This record gives sequence, structure tokens and C-alpha cells, in this order.
Amino acid sequence: MKYQTLLSDNKIQCNICPRNCILKKGQEGFCHVRKNNGNEIVLTTYGYNTGLAIDPIEKKPLYQFYPNTPVLSFGTLGCNMGCQFCQNWKTTKNKNPDFKLNKTSPQEIVQIAKHYNCKSVAFTYNDPIIFFEYAVDCAKLCQENDIKTVAVTSGFINPEPAKEFFQYMDAANIDLKGFSEDFYKKNCHAHLKPILDTIKYVKNETNCWVELTTMLIKGENDSPDMIQEQCEWILENLGPDVPLHFSAFFPNYKFTNYPATDFETLITARNIAIRSGLNYVYTGNLANVQTSSTYCKNCHKPIIVRNGYNLFEYNLKNGNCIFCNTKCDGRFS
Ligand code: SF4
Repeated sequence: MKYQTLLSDNKIQCNICPRNCILKKGQEGFCHVRKNNGNEIVLTTYGYNTGLAIDPIEKKPLYQFYPNTPVLSFGTLGCNMGCQFCQNWKTTKNKNPDFKLNKTSPQEIVQIAKHYNCKSVAFTYNDPIIFFEYAVDCAKLCQENDIKTVAVTSGFINPEPAKEFFQYMDAANIDLKGFSEDFYKKNCHAHLKPILDTIKYVKNETNCWVELTTMLIKGENDSPDMIQEQCEWILENLGPDVPLHFSAFFPNYKFTNYPATDFETLITARNIAIRSGLNYVYTGNLANVQTSSTYCKNCHKPIIVRNGYNLFEYNLKNGNCIFCNTKCDGRFS
């Protein structure tokens, strides 16, 4: 019984994420997929998934992790975040027990990934932190079979489970949803501090390759001051080589009265990040060749030319720029 504490009166505390839900017998946590069955907290979605699909790795988004390779992607149901702007709310907020799910064991996940020549398997669409046991079992088996593993996550996890979880991940795209405690409290019913701790831990103390994503929402997290502060934090705590993706919001879930993000906003944010000293900054969802290509941090020539998910030119040899031989940060074949 990992990451749970037995309390009096048959209550059990789940210690996976900073919510630390205390659950009575039969009760589910905030995420709706971890439940006190009377003896222990169980994951009710173990082995079940939704959205099993083969994506380009760029869609996660990961732009500097084996570019242009296929990734077998899946998620389950539920989430431990309460984001009012969720873009995947039909699965993350779904409580319908009849919702159609695939039943796929970790062994079958590996078989499917091999069959379709997928370089990696991604735990995505909803946060794998809440389906910890299923994701970790799949990830261990993938690594034994030379398949890379990817987590797409909010990073809202406690330090102890984070150690185990990220030990089995080769790459992670972690959301940095906004750079203020107020933003996280008001719009995600969560906290910024534990997420910053996770990002620092994964980047600085594990071998997992990290890229960050910030989805910009008008009037909530797109002010130049907030973006400047975020970039300064990244520079100071992670260094200049962590890729940062600014992606566009589309009206969804409880935020249907907010406008979709315009391209200008993404460009402004990208310019602030580049001026702050970050070496790899991208726009996502709305992109052009200039803002979705990778540039050498030394000679500034384009080393991976893409438009969104489509790769047009690959100017790396053994992970080094073909123009000046400087190493590009990331993982390359
Ligand atoms: S993982 Fe789920 S049950 Fe556990 S603390 Fe977080 S929200 Fe609560």
C-alpha cells in the first residue's frame, strides 16, 4: 500500500498529490479514480484507457525529443486539477461509468507500440499522476522493451511519488499554466508552489527530458509582466535550455465566454521569452515556420525546420548543428 496512510474510522489518506484527500470507506478522491474500498485506496481505472492513438511526438508537444517519430498515446478518465478552461474536459471531468473505455494491459500497450513502430508511449490526454500505478507499470515494461516513455502532466504531485514516477519517464511535457498563486487558486483549484518544485526536481535531479507548456488565456495569464516573471524564474531555476511552448487557448468547459488566443499574443510572449534569454521558445496550436522551428543556440541558424507538427528540414548530425557543430539540447537518434 504505497502513498496512502491509514487513519482512524476506516478513513485513508491518499498521498499521491498535494490534495492529500482523506477518504471514507467507498469514497472517491477529487480525481474520481482513486477510491477507498474499505481496506486501501485503489485505482478504479487501472488497465482502462481512452483515446488510444498514434500521434507525432511534436503533438505532445515535445520538439526536442526524437523529432518526427510516432508516439502511442493514451489517457484514462479524471484529473486531480480543477482547471476551468480544460481543453479535454469530456474525459477529465467525465463521471459516467458507461463511458466507453478500451481495456488494454501494459503488455498489450507494448505490443501495440512495437507493432506500429512507435519510438515512445505517452501517458497523456488526462494527467497520468492520477493513474500512477497503470502508467508506471506500462512505463517499466516499455523501458525493458527499448520503447521511450513520455508523461504529459500538470506536475501536481507530492515529492515521494514524483521520485518513483519520473524515474520511469524518459521525457515530460509539464504544464506551467500561469505564473501566480492566484491564477492556480482561482482557475485550477490548485497551487503553483508544488508544481514549481516538481519542475525543478525533474529538470535538475532526474534524467527525464523536460519541456514546458503555457496556454495563454486573455486577461488571466497573458500579461507581459507575468510572462517576464515566469521566464526569469525558468532562467534562474532551470537554465536557458528548457524548451517553452506558448499555446493558444480555445473556448471550452467553463471558459466559453473567453476569446480564443490570437497569434499576436503568442508572438508577444515568445519575444519576451527570447529577450529574457531562453534558447528554445515555440508557439503551439497556432504556429508558422518561424515560431515552430528550432534554432541553434550558438549560430542561430534553423536546425529543425517545422510548421506545427510537420518537419521540413533536419539540420542536426548526431544531435549537433551541421553549421557550427554546437550540441542541440534534447534527445536525438
Ligand atoms: S491523486 Fe486523487 S485521490 Fe489522491 S490526493 Fe490527488 S486528487 Fe486526491
